Amino acid sequence: MKSLLGSSLKDLENVALNYGQAAFRGRQIHNWLYNYKNKKKNIDQIAVLPLDFRNQLKQDGFKVNDLKLNEKYLASDGTLKLLLSTGDHESIECVGIPAENRLTACLSIQVGCPMDCKFCATGKEGLKRSLKASEILDQILFIENEMNRRVTNIVFMGMGEPLLNIDELLLSIRSINEDFNISQRKITVSTVAIPKMIAKLAEKSFQVLGKCQFTLAISLHASNQIVREMIIPSAKNYNIKNIVEDCKQFVSNTGRRVSFEYLMLRGVNDKIEHADELIQLLRGFQCHVNLIQYNQINEVEFKQTSSMRIQLFQSRLFNNGIAVSFRKSRGSEKNAACGQLRQNANNK
Ligand code: SF4
Repeated sequence: MKSLLGSSLKDLENVALNYGQAAFRGRQIHNWLYNYKNKKKNIDQIAVLPLDFRNQLKQDGFKVNDLKLNEKYLASDGTLKLLLSTGDHESIECVGIPAENRLTACLSIQVGCPMDCKFCATGKEGLKRSLKASEILDQILFIENEMNRRVTNIVFMGMGEPLLNIDELLLSIRSINEDFNISQRKITVSTVAIPKMIAKLAEKSFQVLGKCQFTLAISLHASNQIVREMIIPSAKNYNIKNIVEDCKQFVSNTGRRVSFEYLMLRGVNDKIEHADELIQLLRGFQCHVNLIQYNQINEVEFKQTSSMRIQLFQSRLFNNGIAVSFRKSRGSEKNAACGQLRQNANNK
């Protein structure tokens, strides 16, 4: 099967030309494909195309894409979480996070994840496979369909590790930029960090996209190597100080800012001594620290840090010259943590 989703305008014009059609037929497919108001997702629905062209495309194995909506959960704050099934009956999650002037799509990049972070429901399931660009992009269309508005911002913070699916990540970013008209500056790629891959991400971005203007977010979650290895087992391969050095190089190579995500876990990484270690680690580096409230999940022993302790931690960083913000969990009544909807479905 050949998925149309993820094809550029040029690709689709070439498809049309290959079938003896005029190039504008490719533009018609492109307009239809990336219009979120088209809720039906099969070639028969592209009514502007001649019937015989549609039939030829189907006969030759073309399809729009094959994700299906399995379940949705709308939180009282408007956050929408979707459980989608793939053509091979795996399931993935994506989330639409609305605000007044923006709609952020949080996308999955793999089915499951091999990184085994101890605070994460997805990590408990292991990796099934990486997603294709078409499956990554289809998540955006599902969110737009369901929320009846355009996505304005993208965060790769759903299931999976983006740096382990770098080729499909970059193909997706190209399409998000050119086909969905969302600028690279409104895209954030979040990673727990894999040795050598931060430099490779910048290098491949320049090769594939011609530029590297998205934001890199490192899931740091600790102020020292010992705590980091305790909560992110894969961290043993990559010293925390080397991560910071590689991030400095990324900033110097791309001119983009790096942010460090820091999940606040009660009694684990939320003490003032941890704030002081973080200040030492990041001193002199023009970066941003994003403190995140933890959503508790079943079968995991970590607990949420109190608001007062988060404020103390934040003030300590701020008063020592670290740019810092606090992100409160959205859609936090239930099923809000990464992988939780999928885990619940798998347990049914
Ligand atoms: S937090 Fe992210 S990297 Fe870690 S196991 Fe979960 S999905 Fe994978």
